[in-house]
Amino acid sequence: MDISRRKFIVSSSVLGAGMVASPMVFGKRVSVAGKPAILGGEPMLAQKVWPKWPRWNPATDEKHVVEVLRSGVWSRAKVTQRFEEKWAKTIGTNRCLTVVNGTNALITALTNFGVGPGDEVILPPYTFIAVPLAVLAVGAMPIFADVELKTFQLDPDQVAQKITQRTKAILAVHIAGVSVDMDRIMALAKERNLIVIEDACQAHLAEYGGKRLGSIGHAGCFSFQNSKNLPIGEGGAVVSNNGDFMDRCYSYHNLGLPYGSMVGIVSASSVLAGTKIRLTEYQAAIGLALLERLDEETIIRDENAQYLSSMLSDVPGIYPMELYEKANKGAYHLYPFRYVEAEFGGLSREQFMKALRAEGVPCSSGYAVLTDQPYLKDAFDSPLYQHVYPKEQLDFDAYVVANRCPNNETLCKEQAVWFTQNLLLGPKADMELIATAITRIHQHAAQVADIK
Ligand SMILES: *Cc1c(COP(=O)(O)O)cnc(C)c1O
Repeated sequence: MDISRRKFIVSSSVLGAGMVASPMVFGKRVSVAGKPAILGGEPMLAQKVWPKWPRWNPATDEKHVVEVLRSGVWSRAKVTQRFEEKWAKTIGTNRCLTVVNGTNALITALTNFGVGPGDEVILPPYTFIAVPLAVLAVGAMPIFADVELKTFQLDPDQVAQKITQRTKAILAVHIAGVSVDMDRIMALAKERNLIVIEDACQAHLAEYGGKRLGSIGHAGCFSFQNSKNLPIGEGGAVVSNNGDFMDRCYSYHNLGLPYGSMVGIVSASSVLAGTKIRLTEYQAAIGLALLERLDEETIIRDENAQYLSSMLSDVPGIYPMELYEKANKGAYHLYPFRYVEAEFGGLSREQFMKALRAEGVPCSSGYAVLTDQPYLKDAFDSPLYQHVYPKEQLDFDAYVVANRCPNNETLCKEQAVWFTQNLLLGPKADMELIATAITRIHQHAAQVADIK
């Protein structure tokens, strides 16, 4: 595996000659001394107001939206088109189509690559619920391939093992906004003639081998939901270099009317069984306004994440998410790391997070296990699945066993701790405070574990 901590080493070298980014050294600048807040010490970040999300600057942003509102042209038209052209150019694909959200971007891509009832789609279990739901929405069978513990990303070896005659597509989800091992996924797909849809819903402007995520697979999907790195409230996009596919997607999202048809026409005949999931002009205007800042914000998050990782990798029991050699730029919609209880004097993850929150650092345990939840059984019980799939394939207990992913369960139930992207938007000093808070908890872990 070509994963290394070189990236962390590279990032710490920018601190300056002779300076090593270990908690011990920066501990001299930001004192590690004193008890953790949960043991009665002064909270590290007591007065801290973390950067708010989303960010709206009335002086620069509002005019875009007000212009649209005053125009009375609110359904998809020129502003949406301008946003699509800009997003395609930003990601480095020929085309972009906006839709109502990331979930529907995935459904649009799957549908228009012809993925449907009877097909299997391979996806990682460590992801947002929208991903398996999109697979079910097209009547296909979600097949979970485990993630790697170190990277949190879809494991290409596991994908290879899950490919069958029925496999049609791989959903490469760039979790946390950092790249999947795309070289290996694309090689597998080529060998087995599979479609690769990149789920870049957390990966705006992130890169792999110098290419922006979403531009490497057969199509890429984005979300502009309020928490995402480019927030519009709701919104999504499909990007691709495949013109025929994009024409179909456009038609699909606009009532099946032929690509290029005006929005609002009622006389033309529909050429495919589409739906209606168009973005509005005022949503596109918000997108255009916030796109102005995305580049700068992405660089800040990436630098802060690398800096934080360089410090945290020196704390026993804390394992920052590792990146592939070619994952040269991260979007860090999330900043996840692994927490190993045994190296923290038996302090449980729950109690560790409580101690960290007491220092003023918001954190969570992230995703729950998705491979055995009732939504799957609900789909299997539906008329479509009952009609299409043989009984053995709909045996829920057998499905749950076959789709069990041990690494995913370790991350979900034991090890993962997350920060959200807005924590990475402040100064570098914030990262030092977070690392110091964690170091301080580590130094008093046994005592914290004793709290009842
Ligand atoms: C947010 C998200 C989606 C869904 O996007 P919505 O806009 O919320 O529908 C899909 N996949 C991943 C990985 C996401 O994080």
